[in-house]
Amino acid sequence: MMLRTCQVLYSQAGSPTRGWQPLSFDGGAFHLKGTGELMRALLVLRLCAWPPLVTHGLALQAWSQRLLGSRLSGALLRASIYGQFVAGETAEEVRDCVQQLQTLSLRPLLAVPTEEEPDSTVKTGESWYEGNLRAMLRCVELSRSLLKTSAPTGNILMQLKLTALTSTWLCKVLTSCIGRPGASSELSPERLAEAMDSGRDLQVSCLSTEQNRHLQASLSRLQRVVQHAQAQHVRLLVDAEYTSLNPALSLLVAALALRWNTSREGGPWVWNTYQAYLKDTHERLRQDAEAADRAGLAFGVKLVRGAYLDMEREMARLQGTKDPTQPDYEAANQSYRRCLELMLTYVSHCGSMCHLMVASHNEESVHQATKRMWELGIPLDGPVSFGQLLGMCDHVSLALGQAGYAVYKSIPYGSLEEVIPYLIRRAQENQSVLHGARREWELLSQELRRRLLGRGLRALC
Ligand SMILES: Cc1cc2nc3c(=O)[nH]c(=O)nc-3n(C[C@H](O)[C@H](O)[C@H](O)COP(=O)(O)OP(=O)(O)OC[C@H]3O[C@@H](n4cnc5c(N)ncnc54)[C@H](O)[C@@H]3O)c2cc1C
Repeated sequence: MMLRTCQVLYSQAGSPTRGWQPLSFDGGAFHLKGTGELMRALLVLRLCAWPPLVTHGLALQAWSQRLLGSRLSGALLRASIYGQFVAGETAEEVRDCVQQLQTLSLRPLLAVPTEEEPDSTVKTGESWYEGNLRAMLRCVELSRSLLKTSAPTGNILMQLKLTALTSTWLCKVLTSCIGRPGASSELSPERLAEAMDSGRDLQVSCLSTEQNRHLQASLSRLQRVVQHAQAQHVRLLVDAEYTSLNPALSLLVAALALRWNTSREGGPWVWNTYQAYLKDTHERLRQDAEAADRAGLAFGVKLVRGAYLDMEREMARLQGTKDPTQPDYEAANQSYRRCLELMLTYVSHCGSMCHLMVASHNEESVHQATKRMWELGIPLDGPVSFGQLLGMCDHVSLALGQAGYAVYKSIPYGSLEEVIPYLIRRAQENQSVLHGARREWELLSQELRRRLLGRGLRALC
């Protein structure tokens, strides 16, 4: 079905007479960074590309704590990996980091790092999820307070990991229920949305009493976090995780979207994430966009390649099921290109009812997005934004930011104890990106050489 065409005329879009100019990711924008920052980035990216450090990261951390003591080991981490990829521990430290980013025309996308531990009774109990809810509510407040103006704007974004508010165990059960015949009416987004809104008890027949109780508590947490975020004008970007959980996560997002993404609420407050490395993503994205359009709902998408490749393949192998991921890197790239094209076309038709974050470090994807935005007349700082991780691919983020695009850096924050296990797991999942950091490393070296030689020559004169 064709989308309702609500063609928007974008007055701020690039002038057609000037033509599209590809951005230059040659590290020129590194002149905006301090020498100390460049040196730390050089060291940390080099270390992260060394597989044993990433594979045995948690063991090495425990070993360094025993050998050096927790203060010295903590100081080393703060000067290196933690300092590179994490904003800090306190609200003040996060604010300082964000202020620096803002001077470089980059925006914050705060993320509360949480790692459920299925074998731990503490990290799976209801009180753990309630604690996470409080952390998410504080993150909403912090995201809001980082914006200097008190006027409501639509551009405060925050990441939300649903498995911090509901257990992976429940999501797995829900995912298997969704596939059963007759489940569609019992587990419809409408039914869940009604339960969230009214707070009335919801009974799902494929869940045990305990699971039903946890579902009820989870729905209430979701409702509270979105309600608060919308009141503070913060849009929530829900993370995609494993395929064993994603259908349940998407069901929860669809339920939230019914309530919070209506046209009268002012654009999408709850976005979903689509992983292009999955074979069925392009079709799902098309169906979801059309369904949102039919229902008159705003639609928000974070488009990523996907972070759990090895785990997805390993799970499929162990369970004897079909590998859900694309067969190789080129196929994943092709899928990303198609999803990006689809979404940019939707945005150009539906304007502010459709939002997209191109969450990628890949230069080709960023070129494709900027070129198509220009061709379709989508403004640089409108419903399409770009996202990269803090401390990664700054040459891409800085070039985009300097050119006037909306660029967000995904920023985890928290104490060393909370964040290091999270970082190590992310680094394990993103090995290919860290290997690809070779180009960034070369650009950083080039900028440092330029500075040091310049200083040397000045000293000689
Ligand atoms: C702001 C932000 C938010 C994010 N949120 C999420 C999220 O919610 N969920 C999530 O899963 N990830 C998320 N990510 C991580 C994202 O998926 C990774 O950054 C991404 O996988 C790296 O891809 P790239 O486009 O940056 O770069 P590239 O380096 O070009 O691509 C690497 C990716 O290509 C794919 N790939 C590589 N080799 C193969 C192969 N042989 N076969 C098939 N595919 C292959 C993998 O997805 C791999 O990660 C997020 C990233 C950012 C920046």
